[in-house]
Amino acid sequence: MIVRMSKLLLKTLRDDPADAATTSHKLLVRAGYVRRTSAGVWSWLPLGKRVLDNVTRVVREEMDAIGGQEVLLPALQPRETYEASGRAAEYGDLLFRLTDRRGGEHVLGPTHEEAVTQLVKDQVSSYRDLPVIVYQVQTKYRDEARPRSGVLRGREFQMKDSYSFDTGPDGLAEAYRLHREAYIRIFRRLGLDFRIVSAVSGAMGGSASEEFLAPAEAGEDTFVDCPACDYAANTEAVTFTATVPAAADPGPVEELDTPGTPTIETLAAHLGVPASATLKNLLVKVDGEITAVGVPGDREVDLGKLAEHLAPATVELVTAEDFAGRPDLVRGYVGPQGLDIPYLADPRIAPGTSWITGANKPGRHAADVVCGRDFTVDRHLDVVVVEPGDPCPRCGTGLTLGRAIEIGHIFQLGRKYADVFQLDVLGQDGRPARVTMGCYGVGISRAVAALAEQTADDRGLCWPAAIAPADVHVVAAGKAAAAELAERAATALHTRGLRVLLDDRASLSPGVKFTDAELIGVPHVLIAGRRAADGVVELRDRRTGRTAELPLEDALADLTADRDDRP
Ligand code: ATP
Ligand code: MG
Repeated sequence: MIVRMSKLLLKTLRDDPADAATTSHKLLVRAGYVRRTSAGVWSWLPLGKRVLDNVTRVVREEMDAIGGQEVLLPALQPRETYEASGRAAEYGDLLFRLTDRRGGEHVLGPTHEEAVTQLVKDQVSSYRDLPVIVYQVQTKYRDEARPRSGVLRGREFQMKDSYSFDTGPDGLAEAYRLHREAYIRIFRRLGLDFRIVSAVSGAMGGSASEEFLAPAEAGEDTFVDCPACDYAANTEAVTFTATVPAAADPGPVEELDTPGTPTIETLAAHLGVPASATLKNLLVKVDGEITAVGVPGDREVDLGKLAEHLAPATVELVTAEDFAGRPDLVRGYVGPQGLDIPYLADPRIAPGTSWITGANKPGRHAADVVCGRDFTVDRHLDVVVVEPGDPCPRCGTGLTLGRAIEIGHIFQLGRKYADVFQLDVLGQDGRPARVTMGCYGVGISRAVAALAEQTADDRGLCWPAAIAPADVHVVAAGKAAAAELAERAATALHTRGLRVLLDDRASLSPGVKFTDAELIGVPHVLIAGRRAADGVVELRDRRTGRTAELPLEDALADLTADRDDRP
């Protein structure tokens, strides 16, 4: 197919949109791929739609290849099913809710576990009907608090979601493995750089869950990566086995006068000791009960990790009011010794280790406070914020920290929804067996933005061949002879099965056309220009910038050969 720019719904922009902070947001708007309709809601223009379709096609092919059956569930769903599953409360304000003319309550689906469980319940009755994998490519709705970064985080966006149904854990593990491998193939084919990270530490005793992350500065996730082995994890999922040696011969607890030292920094400076010699105690409320969390003074508490360990209990920071009427809790000078509240601590706060910590008196600290002698830890939890250089849990090498975009998520769900909707089949033993499920998502519109983030350069977008809106961008850069040669090139390429974007805009200068070609980012640019009368064109590689002047026939041969090499 030849797409003619003279007719194309396309207006490129020279300037970045004022509200754009990320590369993909800026370039996808400037190159005419997407336009913002309202906060987090986007229209896809012809070039953008082609890229979106290319991503979708790859995802479909790989889902079909693992036996996925494509369905389409409604985006508009009865709210009561979300009440039944508990997700109305879980999602809270993230859920778009609406009421119809009869007062019926609906939601716009953020994903489709409820609907798919009911659909499959209606279709299967025996273990012989399983396993089943269904998938859909659909518009999803989430009322994100901060829809930003363009299509990276929309309130309306495209997702591929699939769901597996099995009679037991082995089947679930197999469906999970199939998805994991399909996702690896998908993201490789798309040309994305990605890591697979464990999404949860297993603190909740949760089943397997992994995220596919595309490293990019614009990402909202942080992950650790081991430069030596293949370990990678979401920062909240890293578990450490760090230790601190027990004190050799600790003396008795000694109280120190430390006026004006409510923070670790002021205390360490006042005493001339490293922060790591001190014990920091953070007060939180766990289901409303004030609880202290101890970590070495040079570390921070990761509230996300803490909340995950303690779920379903809620974790909040204490406020000034919580100290009212609690003379035992001295703000800035809390120590675990003699304290009558639950005490959780990092594993480094081990029996025999000795610390400098608050003396539970204003302006005073205590030294030689020994774990197991002067205080006890009710529960050890890995809750410190990961820092670069922390040892890899697998091989001990210093970890690096990076930012990334979550492009996919695979999750062994288990029986949660099957229990809610009583999804049973007749088991092999003749008795009803509850079905076990997995759910798996790919952010299709987000993947477009992630690719833009990873591949763009300072001149514009720079698509991998597999998902580019065209194979070749043909530019007519000159008068009649150039226009005529460009037409000839476009037709020849089209005949050979390549997708062509033809810049046949009559009134624009070659300079403007070249700039647009860089911005739009088709992998190959074929220019009919100065030597058009001799049948000579310039072939330019968008990524490397390498150019060659050659007869049109040779250029066509090059481009066709290149296409045959494509994965
Ligand atoms: P996030 O943590 O980024 O909010 P999530 O973990 O809530 O995402 P899932 O429920 O796992 O997302 O959804 C599956 C996939 O859908 C994600 O891996 C991501 O690629 C994509 N996705 C989720 N939310 C959005 C959004 N607001 N805009 C675009 N894509 C999204
Ligand atoms: Mg996720």
